[in-house]
Amino acid sequence: MAGVRVVIVGGGIGGLAAAVALRAKGIQADVYEQAQRFSEVGAGFMLAPNSLRVLERLGLHDEITRFGAHFTGFTVCRADGTEVSSVPLGGADGYTMFGMYRADMVNLLVSGLPGDALHIDHRCVAFAQDDDRAVVTFENGETAEGDVVIGADGIHSVLQQYVVEPRDPVFSGLAAYRGVMPAERVPDWPDGAVRFWSDSTRNLLVYPVRRGELLNFVAFGVADEQMRESWSAPGDPRQLTAGYGDGWDPLAGEVVSQVDATFRWGIYDRESLRQWTRGRLALLGDAAHPMLPYMGQGANQAIEDGMGLATLLEGVRTVDVPHVLVRYQTLRRDRAARFQQGSRFNVELMAAGKAPILGMPWMYDYDVEAEARTLR
Ligand SMILES: Cc1cc2nc3c(=O)[nH]c(=O)nc-3n(C[C@H](O)[C@H](O)[C@H](O)COP(=O)(O)OP(=O)(O)OC[C@H]3O[C@@H](n4cnc5c(N)ncnc54)[C@H](O)[C@@H]3O)c2cc1C
Repeated sequence: MAGVRVVIVGGGIGGLAAAVALRAKGIQADVYEQAQRFSEVGAGFMLAPNSLRVLERLGLHDEITRFGAHFTGFTVCRADGTEVSSVPLGGADGYTMFGMYRADMVNLLVSGLPGDALHIDHRCVAFAQDDDRAVVTFENGETAEGDVVIGADGIHSVLQQYVVEPRDPVFSGLAAYRGVMPAERVPDWPDGAVRFWSDSTRNLLVYPVRRGELLNFVAFGVADEQMRESWSAPGDPRQLTAGYGDGWDPLAGEVVSQVDATFRWGIYDRESLRQWTRGRLALLGDAAHPMLPYMGQGANQAIEDGMGLATLLEGVRTVDVPHVLVRYQTLRRDRAARFQQGSRFNVELMAAGKAPILGMPWMYDYDVEAEARTLR
C-alpha cells in the first residue's frame, strides 16, 4: 500500500469502520485496541441511510442485510401507545434503516480487515509528534509510528487532551437500561417495527436486531446517581419493569416484563469541540463528538467520519497531512455538532410531549464521500 500510514487508537465501531474505509482507499491503517478482544456491549444500534450508503461502498451492504433487521416502520408514541409521529425510514436514494446487534457489527468490520492490522491489548498512554511523524506509546511498552494518528478512543479519549484543553463530559441527568432478548418472548411484536414510547419522565425504545431474532430495548429515565458512560453496571430488571405499568401501552409492558438481564449506563455528552485536529493527530467518533443517543446517530456519525477522512487522505503526501486533517475538521465538525445539539433538543421536545426530530433529509441524504471530494 502506498501513501501515508495511519495509526488508529480505539477499535470500537468508529475506529474499525475508519480502518475499513482507509484500506478501501489503499491506505495502510492499523487499529490498536486496549481490550483483550474486539467486542461491544450486548445491545443494538440503528444504522441509518447516511451510513448505509458508506457501508455499501465499502462492500458491506450484503453483510448488513444478512446480519441486520430491516425496519418496516418507526412510530413515536405517547406512553399509552397513541401515535405522535411516524419517522421516515429511507433516504431519497432508497437507503433504509437496519437494527444491528453491536457485536455483529464489530465482527463484520473486523472480518473486513487483515489480521495483522488488528492489535489488541494495546492501551494508549501517550502521544508525541514532530514535523515528520507521530508516535503513540502503549501501556505494554510498545510504540506505533504513523504519518497520521486517529483518536477513536471514545468519550473518555486519552488522545483528546493532545488536541484541546481537557474538559469534563456533561452529564445529562439520564440513565439508560439496555439489552436484548429473544424475539420469540414477545410474539405480539410486529415484524420489523421500531417503537419509541415516551412520557415526561421516561422513554422506551424497542426494535429488532439480528434478522429479527433478537429484540433490543433501551429504557431511558432520570438517573439517581452519576454513572460513567463507558462503565456499564448490571441493572435490576424489577426496577425497570416497575416504571412501565399503569397507563402504559400493554405492548411496552409485555417487552419489559420479559427482560431478565439488563445493563445500565449514565448518559453523557460533551460540548462541541472547537478543534478536532492538531498536526498529525485527529479525533473521530465519540472522541470528537459524543452525543446523547436521542437521534440515534453517534455510531452513524463515526462511520461518516471514517469515510470522510479516508476520502481526504487518499493519495496524500506525508508532508501535507496536517493541512488535510484541517480539511477533515472542516468537513465534519459542524455536521457532528448539529447532531450533538439536536440530540439535546430532542430530550427537551420529548419531555414537553412533542415529537423528536428524526429522519430529516439533512440527516439521511448526506453523502460524506461526495462532500469530502469537494474539499480535496
Ligand atoms: C443507550 C445508547 C444508545 C445508542 N444508540 C445508537 C444508535 O441507535 N445509533 C447510533 O448511531 N449510535 C447510537 N449510540 C451511540 C454509539 O453507541 C456511539 O456513538 C458509538 O458506539 C461510538 O463509537 P466509537 O468507536 O467512537 O467509540 P467507542 O464505542 O466508545 O469505542 C472506543 C474504543 O476505544 C477503546 N479505547 C478507549 N481508550 C483506549 C486507549 N487509551 N487505548 C486503546 N483503546 C482505547 C475502547 O476500548 C473502545 O473499544 C447509542 C449510545 C447509547 C449510550
